Amino acid sequence: RRPARPHRDLVFPNGAAPCHKHDPSIRIMQWNILAQALGEGKDGFIRCPLDALNWEERKYLILEEILTYRPDILCLQEVDHYYDTFQPIMASLGYHGTFLAKPWSPCLDVERNNGPDGCALFFRRSRFSLQATAHLRLSAMMLPTNQVAIVQTLSCQATGQQLCVAVTHLKARSGWERLRSAQGADFLQKLQSITSQDGSHCKASPGSIPLIVCGDFNAEPTEDVYRRFSSSPLGLNSAYKLLSSDRQTEPAYTTWKIRPSGETCSTLDYIWYTSDTLSVEGLLDIPTEEQVGPDRLPSYHYPSDHISLLCDISFREEPHRLM
Ligand code: NDP
Ligand code: CA
Repeated sequence: RRPARPHRDLVFPNGAAPCHKHDPSIRIMQWNILAQALGEGKDGFIRCPLDALNWEERKYLILEEILTYRPDILCLQEVDHYYDTFQPIMASLGYHGTFLAKPWSPCLDVERNNGPDGCALFFRRSRFSLQATAHLRLSAMMLPTNQVAIVQTLSCQATGQQLCVAVTHLKARSGWERLRSAQGADFLQKLQSITSQDGSHCKASPGSIPLIVCGDFNAEPTEDVYRRFSSSPLGLNSAYKLLSSDRQTEPAYTTWKIRPSGETCSTLDYIWYTSDTLSVEGLLDIPTEEQVGPDRLPSYHYPSDHISLLCDISFREEPHRLM
């Protein structure tokens, strides 16, 4: 029998559970769901039983995780079952979806693959309408790379408030820190130009659209690309720091797996938000080591090697405009 999915508490970093009668917070989920072709054909998760990776069962665990928390915005990486699974199912649940494949997905090297993996972004149609979509291929030192991002400008159905949401999956593996940093620089520049409403592309202006950036950055908080994001002129803060008692420390891990090369337990996934315009009202805590289990991830009770991140975000009061 399958063990139960780990129970995770919603934590309120500002104290008590908020009460929003008129303007409910926006629930965001960030998750690298583990591409089916990579999980079965490339990763070599030696402590994960092969049947726990069987797509016909694993897909229901992924959907269960999504449906348990019912996010308004869902950002996924390593999606190699978009057209046959997530697009139709999420559409039937009232979501709008967009998918962008990696130019040279490593899934294509796996026998009997289901096509390239890529990033997907879903939003609940009852809450938002779509204003614009940008499909980006990230560059590094002017050269195009194999990494992509989706950026969408949404408008709240109830209030007309604009919100920009982005999803990406940066280059993996150690030895590639400089490439990740360069990809981050390119991404930040592109985000700047998309969110600055007045066309001044040089710095975050008072009129900038509130921004949420979700991703598997494949970088620990000590890396250059993390520093670039936390110190950019966009004014981004990493939501999961608010789980810590000093509000400054990232969780100990967002992915935990065992490959032939050894055990990896690291923080690679983030939800960034513009802290002058948005505030984090709630966060789903990270499963404990005991909940992760001795064989780590993925497992019979958790379908990916990355843990989903989830937070409730609301708009801050309109600042007094200077102009
Ligand atoms: P990345 O290095 O970014 O990694 C791709 C995937 O591999 C990620 O999803 C990553 O998962 C996973 N991964 C990370 N570490 C390991 C590991 N130790 N073992 C197994 N999987 C791991 O890949 P790129 O985007 O740079 O693409 C590289 C691949 O693309 C090449 O291996 C090749 O297959 C293919 N390619 C093909 C070309 C062609 O001409 N046909 C050209 C260029 C690339 P996570 O993010 O969760 O860590
Ligand atoms: Ca992976």
